[in-house]
Amino acid sequence: MGEEQMWIGGEWCASSTGETSDVLNPATGDIIATVPRASPEDVERCVTSSRAAFENPDWKAMDPAQRGRILNKMAAVTYAKAKELAVLESTNNGKTFREALSEIRYGAWTLEYFAGLSDKIEGSTIPVPGARLNYTLRQPLGVTAHIVPWNFPLQLALRSIAPALAAGCTVIAKPASWTPLSLLAWAKAVDEADTGLPSGVLQVLTGSGALVGDGLAGHPGVDGVVLTGGVPTGQAVMAKASENLTPVTLELGGKGANIVFPDANLRYAAKAICFGIFMNAGQMCWAGSRLLVHEDVHDELVKAVCDEVSKWAVGPGMEEGVRMGSLVHERHRAEVLEKLEAGLAQGGTVVLGGKALERDGAFMEATVVTGVGQDDLLFQDELFGPVLTVTSFADDEEALALANNTPFGLLNGVWTNDLGRAHRLARDLECGMVSINEYPITFPQTAFTGWKHSGIGIEQSQDALRFYTKVKNVNVKL
Ligand code: NAD
Repeated sequence: MGEEQMWIGGEWCASSTGETSDVLNPATGDIIATVPRASPEDVERCVTSSRAAFENPDWKAMDPAQRGRILNKMAAVTYAKAKELAVLESTNNGKTFREALSEIRYGAWTLEYFAGLSDKIEGSTIPVPGARLNYTLRQPLGVTAHIVPWNFPLQLALRSIAPALAAGCTVIAKPASWTPLSLLAWAKAVDEADTGLPSGVLQVLTGSGALVGDGLAGHPGVDGVVLTGGVPTGQAVMAKASENLTPVTLELGGKGANIVFPDANLRYAAKAICFGIFMNAGQMCWAGSRLLVHEDVHDELVKAVCDEVSKWAVGPGMEEGVRMGSLVHERHRAEVLEKLEAGLAQGGTVVLGGKALERDGAFMEATVVTGVGQDDLLFQDELFGPVLTVTSFADDEEALALANNTPFGLLNGVWTNDLGRAHRLARDLECGMVSINEYPITFPQTAFTGWKHSGIGIEQSQDALRFYTKVKNVNVKL
């Protein structure tokens, strides 16, 4: 069992109080490590170090192309250590090794993508009347706090760390209490790799959201807060940040729909629908947790989905052949099952799964519920587990209304071979991302963004860099 440390001001250290928290393997319930439980004093020390690192000319005056080279070295370390990190991720989070490996490689790719953008953050010259020169500067936002969830612990940390560093900000990252190990191990690998990153530019603090996350969000020394997490956490972080008018990027929940028309390739759609809700045991903001299917192909598609996922072995993520691992924690599984039960009391028929697995660990069956009404809890609420609801529709108009009838607006999928219908739905769906005939899909170079309760701001793509830079307008009388 490892006794892990935090990374503050270039030093690996314990909490100022010496307090620690246990970290579990959810597939066995075993304690696999302890991590420091940061105190308010540690938060203070971290913010002070981050400010000093931000002002340090070694970072502030660094050639932006050099920042890119450093990010490329970080990407190379991540690729080189990917398998090791994936073992840790699978052991700590419960997901399969294959899922963990692709998550970590995606994180490395994100570092590479933003490495290439570090020297392309350009301002503009603006035509104004008279003998004047008018231009904009885009300057780094400053000290940024990154509050990370437990479902893709390393990838979602790297998703925002990469653009922040590319833009010249400094970073304080706080992993979720249940899953701190991959981010700590990655930071250690980066530290040991001698990438040229000046001391204190990147720090990792472990501890509770209520204390460390809240402390960072409300700190006057923090210039920007990025949270990926649940809606209530987003609201708490935004309220806290508002005390100092600190800008926030919030990537919150989702209730994605796959909308399937009779002219779609149903066999392929069934596989993607399973991937979209049972990968990572359904613990994904962009999970396609709602299947909206045309009444003419309802029975055929439900059968194809159930046949497909019945082939998925459920078990410990490190076991060969397992397709669906453990949920992240027994407490989380209990919440998913509780919501499922409350939802089923309103209606719906369980046609597959529906229960916890009777064995050690936080395992649950892949679950499919048909006949779910649009006002039901199962249709409206994010369960964040392996539960697919099925609702049928008669025409395009009804499909669109159903898809849009949730508080969330992250990713929706459309399955059809009718181009006109596909693009009409892409236009009219109230969400930040739409995918046609594929689900789920994203790339470091494309915006990951939610509308409505799914969030504020943009991750990934060149647009992400807007958050990490401040615009300054300069006017010169000639
Ligand atoms: P969570 O909201 O419980 O925790 C997220 C992070 O916030 C953790 O690090 C936690 O310690 C911290 N936190 C908790 N309370 C806080 C507070 N009061 N102030 C500051 N920080 C606080 O989320 P989770 O359970 O780890 O993750 C699941 C949620 O995240 C789901 O709702 C999911 O949809 C969402 N999510 C969204 C995206 C996206 O990109 N939109 C991606 C992944 C997960």
